[in-house]
Amino acid sequence: MTKIIDGKAIAGQIRAELKKEVTHFKEEGREPGLTVILVGDNSASQTYVKFKERAATEIGIRSEVIKKTDEISQEELLQIIAGLNADRKVDGILVQLPLPAHIDQKVVLEAIDPAKDVDGFHPINTGRLFSGQDQERRFEACTPLGIIELLEREGIEIKGKKAVVVGRSNIVGKPVAHLLLERHATVTLCHSRTKDLARETRQADLLIAAVGRAQFIAGDMVKEGAVVIDVGINRVDGKLVGDVEYEGAKARAGYITPVPGGVGPMTIALLMKNTLKARKIHGV
Ligand code: NDP
Repeated sequence: MTKIIDGKAIAGQIRAELKKEVTHFKEEGREPGLTVILVGDNSASQTYVKFKERAATEIGIRSEVIKKTDEISQEELLQIIAGLNADRKVDGILVQLPLPAHIDQKVVLEAIDPAKDVDGFHPINTGRLFSGQDQERRFEACTPLGIIELLEREGIEIKGKKAVVVGRSNIVGKPVAHLLLERHATVTLCHSRTKDLARETRQADLLIAAVGRAQFIAGDMVKEGAVVIDVGINRVDGKLVGDVEYEGAKARAGYITPVPGGVGPMTIALLMKNTLKARKIHGV
């Protein structure tokens, strides 16, 4: 029978564990601090930031949201980041993406102190991940990390598995491929120019879909007994659906994540975990 991986429950468990850890930090004299910068009025970004703030507060992380209109200049944004880099109460800095077109996202992300880059997007952190270095002090992107935690907490072995990742973005596809590689999976990274995608996906013991197209991975593209992780969040007729055609894939898979309630809640839980890691690195 197919096991549905309950990301919501696992994320709740992680948050409860982190809450206990925060108590120790408080006893030591300082709670972890997370600052989120939100530019503009993108409604999805506002919702994501609200979820992040809520999770931080629940766990006992000192959280702050700096809201700016989309008229903010790049220079002003860089000054805010410089201030947060220097602020000892701030362990994690997150700039909610996307940024307005007049701001160079790359410049902004590179301005964040890599030791406070809890989103794991700074090139120093991606470089450490891609070269397999400094696991203790590097930051890894939250969604890929969330996927690994889901697998590990479900007791799904990664070592030796044939993993196929569909999507090669810097936020999901590439980092998750490296995290899997580091755990000794044999990884194939697919993208829009992959020839005969179905042939690749049908060989996957572990299939990760991060494409951004509703129900793109059809049931018959899934190998019997495979573990299927659906990262996609697509809105269709007001409903959230993943990148995997759920019912068809479920009929063949050994494990599958639902949308919503799979990878989504894990992303936020792992952001909190990264913030505690930053606090540990920074000390009191
Ligand atoms: P991107 O748009 O950055 O990347 C999509 C990837 O899919 C690209 O690498 C692209 O290939 C590939 N792709 C597009 N069309 C095809 C195709 N026909 N065949 C094979 N590959 C294709 O998306 P993200 O990685 O940022 O996000 C992917 C999905 O995950 C989205 O639905 C997003 O909303 C969701 N998401 C969910 C999160 C969560 O917390 N659950 C967090 C982040 C994202 P190419 O590079 O060749 O263009």
